[in-house]
Amino acid sequence: MNKPVNYGFPTKCLYGNQITSSCDNTGAISFPIYQSATFAHPGLGNSTGYDYSRLQNPTREHLEKVVCSLENGYDALAFSSGMAAIAALMELFKPGDHIISGNDLYGGSIRLFDNINRKNLIEFDYADTGRDDITSYIKPSTKAIYVETPTNPMMNVTDIRKTAAIAKEYGLLLIVDNTFLSPYFQNPLDLGADIVIHSGTKFLGGHNDTLAGFLVVNSEALSEKLRFIIKTIGSGLAPFDSWLILRGIKTLSIRMERQEQNAIEIARWLQHNPKVRNIYFPGLPTHPGYEISKSQSRGFGSMLTFEVEDAETASLILSRVKLIRFAESLGGVETLITYPMTQTHADVPQAERERNGITDTILRLSIGIEDIDDLIDDLSQALQ
Ligand SMILES: *Cc1c(COP(=O)(O)O)cnc(C)c1O
Repeated sequence: MNKPVNYGFPTKCLYGNQITSSCDNTGAISFPIYQSATFAHPGLGNSTGYDYSRLQNPTREHLEKVVCSLENGYDALAFSSGMAAIAALMELFKPGDHIISGNDLYGGSIRLFDNINRKNLIEFDYADTGRDDITSYIKPSTKAIYVETPTNPMMNVTDIRKTAAIAKEYGLLLIVDNTFLSPYFQNPLDLGADIVIHSGTKFLGGHNDTLAGFLVVNSEALSEKLRFIIKTIGSGLAPFDSWLILRGIKTLSIRMERQEQNAIEIARWLQHNPKVRNIYFPGLPTHPGYEISKSQSRGFGSMLTFEVEDAETASLILSRVKLIRFAESLGGVETLITYPMTQTHADVPQAERERNGITDTILRLSIGIEDIDDLIDDLSQALQ
């Protein structure tokens, strides 16, 4: 093994922090898929480092090292989906523990908290972590602050440094779901967070073809606890899917650049469309999170939510788009449009949804790498 070097981000997308040879001697440039459930021991009390793939598999381990390097973490763990990662993370908590969570979150996370974790007597309070005084929610049983920034789908921005300072002062864990910006644009651990979550299905995979999830932690203690959980509950990512995500990550930097460029153009174009009421994109200087974004992120990403004049217009757009497809998910090379009210956030109670502004006039775009003129042409005919 070579000595760790200080590679730049695009190089880390290929190799992690160091060029490691795979476990064989063939010199394969693409890390092999170790499609093996179990591994033979050289002798009693002797292991190759791999025993059984639920515990660890060489392909998953390689992926975890790459993701860990991208988030500047102590350790990263790869799960079978983003939700599997968050569900495993919640096993850190016990009945009576209290978590302060951002109120605008991926709908699946709210579904998990409200239905499964609450049933197991973990308490949640939802706060506007971008605006509220978080300290007013803290009680003796509070163990963690959980935020997405920017949020899905309303693109609210939380100041990670400020929230981390509060977490530190009160001895709480700060957990940040960094899916929307990917490690290319934002590294929450560097800003003081303890745990970073990714739905690897989105930007890391980048091709709308594989589900995956990650937890990246900043300490040995958290790594040990979560390694125990992943091997016990068995939700680690399969070898082939690990390989697909490794392949996706190789092009993360150039995808993110092009996707953001396209998003900025589309945001500007939407501003001039008479049917558009509001645009929620932190890259517009009019967005309330613009300055904080600039202070904590290296870019604004390619997620853009917008509000149209009425529900009928929203429905027409969804039926008229041709190149842009009406589908859930985000972060891939293909541009997708979603209707959060009936898709990603359908299970969020109506009152909560409306309080967050997720109404029947809200549409969310995940902008891909297509030719920008083709995207604008498609939007113009859909919004005419
Ligand atoms: C998609 C998503 C998740 C869940 O990830 P899956 O891979 O779909 O299980 C969690 N958080 C955010 C912000 C997401 O967009």
